[in-house]
Amino acid sequence: EIQDPANRRFGYAFANCTHCGPRFSIVESIPYDRAATTMRHFSLCDSCRREYQDPADRRFHAQPIACPDCGPRLWIEAEGLTFGSAEAIAEAAGRLAKGDILAIKGIGGFQLACDALNEAAVARLRDRKRRPSKPFALMALDIEGLRRHAFVSEAEAQWLRDPAAPIVLLEARGRPVAASVAPRQWALGWMLPTTPLHLLLLKAFGGPLVMTSGNLSGEPQAIHDDEARQKLQPFADAFLMHDRPIARRLDDSVVRIIAGQGRVQRRARGFAPETLPLPKALCDTPPVVAYGAFLKATICLTGGGQALLSHHLGDLDDALTAEEFIQADTDYRTLLDHRPEALACDLHPDYPSTAFAEDRAKRDNLPLFRIQHHHAHVAAAMVEAGWNPADGPVLGLVMDGLGWGTDGTVWGGEFLLCDYGGFERLASLKPVALPGGTAAQLEPWRNQLAQLDAAGLSAEADRMLDGRPLAPLRAAMAKGLNAPLTSSAGRLFDAVAAATGLAPDRQSFEGEAAMALETAARTPLDDARPYPFEFHGGTLDPAPLWQALIRDIRSGVPQALIAANFHVGFARALADTGRRLARSAGARAIALSGGCFQNATLLESCLERLSGVTVLVPSRVPVNDGGIALGQAAVAAYQRQKGLGPLR
Ligand code: ZN
Ligand code: FE
Repeated sequence: EIQDPANRRFGYAFANCTHCGPRFSIVESIPYDRAATTMRHFSLCDSCRREYQDPADRRFHAQPIACPDCGPRLWIEAEGLTFGSAEAIAEAAGRLAKGDILAIKGIGGFQLACDALNEAAVARLRDRKRRPSKPFALMALDIEGLRRHAFVSEAEAQWLRDPAAPIVLLEARGRPVAASVAPRQWALGWMLPTTPLHLLLLKAFGGPLVMTSGNLSGEPQAIHDDEARQKLQPFADAFLMHDRPIARRLDDSVVRIIAGQGRVQRRARGFAPETLPLPKALCDTPPVVAYGAFLKATICLTGGGQALLSHHLGDLDDALTAEEFIQADTDYRTLLDHRPEALACDLHPDYPSTAFAEDRAKRDNLPLFRIQHHHAHVAAAMVEAGWNPADGPVLGLVMDGLGWGTDGTVWGGEFLLCDYGGFERLASLKPVALPGGTAAQLEPWRNQLAQLDAAGLSAEADRMLDGRPLAPLRAAMAKGLNAPLTSSAGRLFDAVAAATGLAPDRQSFEGEAAMALETAARTPLDDARPYPFEFHGGTLDPAPLWQALIRDIRSGVPQALIAANFHVGFARALADTGRRLARSAGARAIALSGGCFQNATLLESCLERLSGVTVLVPSRVPVNDGGIALGQAAVAAYQRQKGLGPLR
């Protein structure tokens, strides 16, 4: 209709029907009725009213129904001037063509756009956003256009065309986009136009656009006009605005196809607030609310046999995100009129989500269940798979960043025998120090030092890390000062990336070093000679890996092959250890969970090595910490029903 000159909605950026258009981003209360949405500011014209009331019309009871006569309008703001609806799209496209950066009021928040083939424009956006290397998302007009820059499999094409229209991670191929879009990454995040506004803009512009969230570094995306004008002024040369208020921020969702299956890595626009069914045997459990972890925060509410995992809220180290987290709690509770019988949070005492859960537990006099981080990761996989308690325990293989353990150390490379009632830690990666605590999360070389020392290769560490302040760090590690022990798999990735020369000195976003290592490993894996690990006394020890890796570095083996050797070797060690532990413990399935399994090479290699085993991997919910709240909710609901908890 918007492309048909004879249609009354020709060129109209806010067309929709009963089955498409905004919903969650405009709802203010329920029941979902126009009067309860931000569309209440627009009164229907006669033509729209007829369509809305006609059961045979495709817009019958489409709450956001609109047309150029009665609906939202577009305009451009630039250099103190305002350009009206008719010219807005053409004006925006013209500005993008000359290299301008545009702030666009999208469906769930403001976005920043520029010409993805114009290196100067993209570099300027990076510079202005103070975002040195975290990849930008891209938008193309259609799949044919996208295929000029990326490889698109059939499964990927289906996800791109999905009504949810998520960002899909695609391998770069063909004509490269500007180098600054995603420095040192093999996979770029692409989406197709998600709204009529984006379709009209892409049609007018032609080529691909960078389409990144409009925010200050670390903050949530702006959704209000004045907030955007004030905050995005330094980034944007012009604003493409409209007058439909955004009730709720919704980021773009992210999907990656691994081993032929789409896996949601960020769950927001298009997916939230869709519910997931709880496993049959958990359907009668009491309603609970779970507050997730720290990074990629989400909230999960259960009731009536369903679990509602909130949209992606962001990382709680940012004050505005933490504020929004609290708002989201009220928001979901009110929307659903939800009355929980118990609450759940992470075991970590210092997460803002834990503090918030403690407050609410006290205020509302509710029991609070503190769920171990990696137990929750496994439970999320179990819930999604519909795993019932009667199906028996699952061997959870959780490869992750950092999560609080029950023994006061930091976990993150775990083999846990789990059911909903509890878990037993059967084995883990060998714990090593995190020299400098949080500094070791940012600086991969610190983990290289800890790993080499733990492997008895201190002389190699001296040689490879010449010029670093090794002596004070070793003294601190010896005394256990600001050097907690961790079995984290994420930090092992950091250490290997650093040793291979692929890690930045200091990471500017979570997972940067690990992603560089994965990118390097995308050589033919058939040539890989898997590095060995040793399993003894409940620990998987990477010491043999370090010896082999150092030999390879000495003899000039290319970085790509070293990275591949590591991935295949690690996957093999995990799968073989997991298989053995599952057999001796009588577990009928192995669950793979934790942030490291966003890595396609690691997950595919593990799945291959585990052929013949029942493997559970979350895919509708994120395998990373975005899925934690779901696992917490299931465990708390089950334990509450069985009268098991809460633990103090
Ligand atoms: Zn109308
Ligand atoms: Fe985690």
